[in-house]
Amino acid sequence: MLPVASGPAVPWSNGAYSVKRHGVTITNCDSEPVQTPGCIQAHGALLVVRPSDLEILQVSENAQAILGHDAADLLGRPVSAALGEQPAASVRQFLDQRGDQRGVDNNPLYVVTLPARAGVPALDVTVHTVDGVTVIELEATGRTDGIEPDYVGLLQKTVSRLQSATSVGELSRILSAEVRAITGFGRVMVYKFHADGHGEVFAESRDEAYAPWLGLHYPAEDIPRPAREIFKRVWCRPVQDVAGGLAELVPLAHPVTQAPLAMTHCALRGPSIMYTEYLRNMGVTAGLTMPIRQAGELWGLIACHHYAGPKHVSYPVRAACEFVAQIASLQLQAAEEREHVLYRLRVESVHNDLLARAAHEGGLATFFDGRTGMLEGLEAGGAALYHDAKWWKIGDTPSDQELDALALHLEERPELGRTARRVYATDSLSQEYPPAAAFADRASGLLAIALTPGRRNLMMWFRPETIRIVDWGGNPHDKPTTLGPYGPRLTPRASFELFRESVRNRSRPWLDVEVDAAARLRVLVMDVIVGRAEQLADLNADLTRSNQELDAFAHAAGHDLKEPLRGIQHFAHQLLDSAIRTDEERRGKLEVLMRLTTRMDSLLDSLLQFSRVGRMTLELEPTDLDEVVREALEMVGSRTTNPSSEVFIPRALPRALCDRVRVREIFVNLLSNALKYNDKPSKHIEVGYVARGENLPRPKAPPGAAEHTIFFVKDNGIGISDKHIGHIFTMFRRLHAQDAFGGGTGVGLTIVQKLVERHRGQVWVDATLGWGSTFFFTLPGDVGP
Ligand code: ADP
Repeated sequence: MLPVASGPAVPWSNGAYSVKRHGVTITNCDSEPVQTPGCIQAHGALLVVRPSDLEILQVSENAQAILGHDAADLLGRPVSAALGEQPAASVRQFLDQRGDQRGVDNNPLYVVTLPARAGVPALDVTVHTVDGVTVIELEATGRTDGIEPDYVGLLQKTVSRLQSATSVGELSRILSAEVRAITGFGRVMVYKFHADGHGEVFAESRDEAYAPWLGLHYPAEDIPRPAREIFKRVWCRPVQDVAGGLAELVPLAHPVTQAPLAMTHCALRGPSIMYTEYLRNMGVTAGLTMPIRQAGELWGLIACHHYAGPKHVSYPVRAACEFVAQIASLQLQAAEEREHVLYRLRVESVHNDLLARAAHEGGLATFFDGRTGMLEGLEAGGAALYHDAKWWKIGDTPSDQELDALALHLEERPELGRTARRVYATDSLSQEYPPAAAFADRASGLLAIALTPGRRNLMMWFRPETIRIVDWGGNPHDKPTTLGPYGPRLTPRASFELFRESVRNRSRPWLDVEVDAAARLRVLVMDVIVGRAEQLADLNADLTRSNQELDAFAHAAGHDLKEPLRGIQHFAHQLLDSAIRTDEERRGKLEVLMRLTTRMDSLLDSLLQFSRVGRMTLELEPTDLDEVVREALEMVGSRTTNPSSEVFIPRALPRALCDRVRVREIFVNLLSNALKYNDKPSKHIEVGYVARGENLPRPKAPPGAAEHTIFFVKDNGIGISDKHIGHIFTMFRRLHAQDAFGGGTGVGLTIVQKLVERHRGQVWVDATLGWGSTFFFTLPGDVGP
């Protein structure tokens, strides 16, 4: 806002302001009393009457020209003196019917038409009440043939066209075309206000003869605050003839209350000198403006310009335009929401593609390989990511050094550090970070997300400076500040310099949907990064395990397998040397030899079986574990037919996403161990589960296990001593003599562990020596009962 120039006290401080007399003294658009200009546009006439008896209190000074009566003669007389008896009666009737005396309705409405008289055309009379007075406005009908177009029919078409718009841009295009068709103005623009108050020509319909203004930006000062306030209250603002002059009210203020007439709703309200000067600068000879409002706020304007002399806009045309502006305002919200939803979906799909590629093709660097929608997604001019100790860039970005310094600065931004979203967006970076002015052409706007706190993994999008400004005929920028009697007065075009300042180093702002999309992308990228880290951790764990298994294998090969081999060697030597020994002795030794080779054979089988578990691919499918356990029991039962053993399954096991055959193998191993390592006369085995969230004990459960269903096989067998419990999953580890408890190779539990882990589950045991053991395991793909 401009400072108000100091100077002598303004002469209208008693309330009697006249734009005609005092308008040129205005130094600041924002302080002009535009709602009480004390003047009307001289092509019409205005009467202020007392509602109770319709006595004329004020009249426009041009009454003689329009009504054929001298203004001074009309004051204090009944309104019939100005309008004639019949029209005055219509006004009376209108007021009586509408109860307008109470000032309820201040929207001017058509009441009657005064017939044409010598030298004066037919006049439309509109009436409204404001602040306890009735305002009667008279304007030429503009109808030469007396035939009105079918406005209702026209409007129906217009409304259905407006409703078909799927975006704000389309709505604006239809709107400008429709308003031009209805009004016949040379140019109709939809002018949108940006967050900083400056405007942009968002859509335009124009006569071919005029230069296009689409996409041009205008300073906020072009539409001063008081004018914006009026557009929150009225739907239509005509200026029939920019050069047409003004007619002052006589007297200038209400004769009794001394109040100036509130002319907010008057169609004839006299425009400010600043405004007509502004229009004249553009070569505009007549104008009509309607607001587009959203949730009570001014979203923009429909600005109609005429360049070929006065342009009469009759009452019905104004009413039609008001209606169109109201419909457009309603449609705008719907179109904007629709557009945002579509935009959000588009950005999300672009980002999803980015992520899918990043996940498959080696990380975040793929965002910057030029093939992806890194820039299109958020409609940015450039993007950069600090990752793996270097800058990855695409499009127009600051240099590496500039990015280094910027990142250092951003480290301090609380939005990127402490908030949950870690998003920061600005459309004027240099305002808070002055060095950014050096690269304003590439990065006046910044949208940044911090993947991790600090400089590392900072992802940024840039937008260039918005610098397209209007440049119409002549050179408006050169217009100087003029010196009025009350100090220097800014002409509208001088506001350009202000505007240049206000758009300098500023980009198109980031929409909420864009900021949200960046925040979402951050979460997804984190998933990819974390997911990859987890994968790596899993791979490492697998590798460690494989190494250990390899060790165990080497040990087995070197030790366990050598033991029977040594025996074979030994007995083979003896056989060679024993030509003199008896047959019986020889048979005994051969039997030992046979037993050793059989054991070696089974050890090698176990080894092979184990190595298969590591190599095979799992076939995961939703599996009924209850069936699987019963199959396993059949398999185990066929091996150990012991009448004194009982297996309980207190409740049916749930389903799980797993490899059916492998999980059966798990149960077969656990069940056969439970039967095998059991010295009780009656063996009790229980197969069951504890579901996630169930309030049941989970003895010795490792961290995270309770997140899943835990399956168990419990026996009342020999149990395991605490000192051995840590070794039972080790390959070839048996706690007993080779042949005790039916023998075994010590591989069963190692295989169980491997199978469970390949399902990304956990396995553990809880046992008490002499009392029994319970083996637990999880299958994270459990899918519920
Ligand atoms: P094995 O084939 O020798 O039985 P496992 O790997 O299946 O090999 O078991 C390793 C060792 O763990 C067994 O030798 C046994 O000492 C112990 N063990 C396994 N299951 C049980 C159980 N249910 N009760 C007590 N000890 C068991």
